Amino acid sequence: MKIKTKLTLAVGVLFFFIALLSALAIRQVYLLSQDTKNILEANYISLDYTRNMHKLIDKSVIADEDLIEFEKLLAKQNTNITEIGEKELTQDLQAHFVQLRSQPDSPVFISNIRNDLNDIMKLNMDAILRKSDTAGQTADNSILWISITSAFCFIIGFTLLINLPGYIANPIKNLTDSIRQIASKNYSQRLYFKGHDEFSSLARSFNTMAEKLQEYSDSNLAKLMMEKKRIETLINNLFDPVLGLDEKNIILFINEQALKISGLKRENVIGKQAEEIAVTNDLIRSLLQKMATNENKDNSLKIYADNKESYFEKQLVPISIIPTGEENQKEIGSFIILRNITPYKELDFAKTNFIATVSHEFKTPIASMKMSLQLLNNEQTGNLNDEQKSLVESIKEDTERLLRTTGELLNISQVETGNTKLKIEAVDVKSIVNSAIDNNKKLAEQKSIIINFEPLENLPLVSADKEKATWIVSNLISNAIRYSYDNTTIDVNVLEMDNKLIISVKDGGIGIDPKYLPRIFDKYFRVPGTEKEGTGLGLAISKEFIEAMGGRIDVKSELGEGSEFIISLIIS
Ligand code: ADP
Repeated sequence: MKIKTKLTLAVGVLFFFIALLSALAIRQVYLLSQDTKNILEANYISLDYTRNMHKLIDKSVIADEDLIEFEKLLAKQNTNITEIGEKELTQDLQAHFVQLRSQPDSPVFISNIRNDLNDIMKLNMDAILRKSDTAGQTADNSILWISITSAFCFIIGFTLLINLPGYIANPIKNLTDSIRQIASKNYSQRLYFKGHDEFSSLARSFNTMAEKLQEYSDSNLAKLMMEKKRIETLINNLFDPVLGLDEKNIILFINEQALKISGLKRENVIGKQAEEIAVTNDLIRSLLQKMATNENKDNSLKIYADNKESYFEKQLVPISIIPTGEENQKEIGSFIILRNITPYKELDFAKTNFIATVSHEFKTPIASMKMSLQLLNNEQTGNLNDEQKSLVESIKEDTERLLRTTGELLNISQVETGNTKLKIEAVDVKSIVNSAIDNNKKLAEQKSIIINFEPLENLPLVSADKEKATWIVSNLISNAIRYSYDNTTIDVNVLEMDNKLIISVKDGGIGIDPKYLPRIFDKYFRVPGTEKEGTGLGLAISKEFIEAMGGRIDVKSELGEGSEFIISLIIS
């Protein structure tokens, strides 16, 4: 049966009994009022008439007006005959009254009338008693029937009170709980309601929905698992080692290549804290250190694996997502990709070795060419005409440049192979700067550039490799000349500051665009559009040498305003 029918039936029955109870109560109260009315109208009034008639004949002398009054009362009594036998008694009274009227002082007639009145009174009083019993009976019946009907109403009402809220609320509560379970992805949740009402059809619909959701979730899960496997296989087959971490540095995945170079076993790594693994594994430790210091400068790692040295470049890829329903990005972990750069490194070594060998091989012939040119210029070897002299001069310039370039190439190959050998000693900066200025004298003269250097007295000695420090300052002055306009000045200053000795070379030349300043000390970097010949190695070598001596090199420059290169060296 449907809930609606059940509820209509229950409330209908309750309504019927309440209506019945009301009708019954009205009827019984009506019956009671009728009984009382009967007593009043039929008997009480007769008693009143007879009592008044009694009073009239009880007088010592019955006057004519008493008789008239008596007759009136008698006439009224005649119209109020309600009991069986009352009529006869009233007729007797009538007859005796006729006698009394003819002889008003006859004690016999008075006595007859008194007896008649008493009989009528008794008859009415008996009737009152009888009718009172009937009224009592009606009241008892009313109580009985009203009680029975009330009991029915109570039972039905009580049954509804106990059962109805639970009957409606319990399935709704079960449904709410089940919906919550579904919301928490427990798709195995089912509802069971007995019967064939709306709740059971609701349960059937709910169960169908849950089944469909489960099916959907299972198929999605299968798809996700498939995708996961696909991605895992892809990562595993990558040539580069890859490591995946979550936001708490827990290792989520590691591919075969990463396992190979780290010597780790997958089952000992997955789900573990990276810091925990780092305690016993050098590679993971150095990766974490690089991550912590956010070291981007030197990303390469040298790893000995598979019986050979391999070089890897670390790439840290942070993974950020915007969670559903949120606006801000959230970091959920990171990838560490180690790009195998061994082939490039090997090529780089080959290139460096080649440059080192070639430049070394070039040095001696160039030096002998320089010597020969000097001899050519010597008058003892014969006089040269003006044209020959200018040719010799131009060959000399080219030889100088060739020597400078081979020197730079040799230096950079030393830096790249880590073979830079420094001879650190206490040196006088004044002599370093003077030698550097001397080296560039000719160049400066060609462009009519004046180099100002007024050294302070009593400058302390510095810890440096004299030859390399001279080379650096010479390179800075040479740059200042090359990148300056004719007829300008270059200021070289030396001063003591914070326990360091500062050498600055300041020119008023073309200057450097600020966007290129961060790359100015990179190997082979030249500001795009630079017209002067050069290798882009001078500043890179200078930086390497200076840092190897414990000092540093900085630059301040503005496009079109000139540049200032500042070296600081440790006071010995
Ligand atoms: P090179 O001068 O051989 O090109 P460097 O390493 O000495 O190589 O200099 C790198 C680049 O920096 C130069 O190509 C030039 O563009 C720029 N540069 C260096 N010094 C100066 C300077 N004093 N003024 C302007 N530009 C300079």
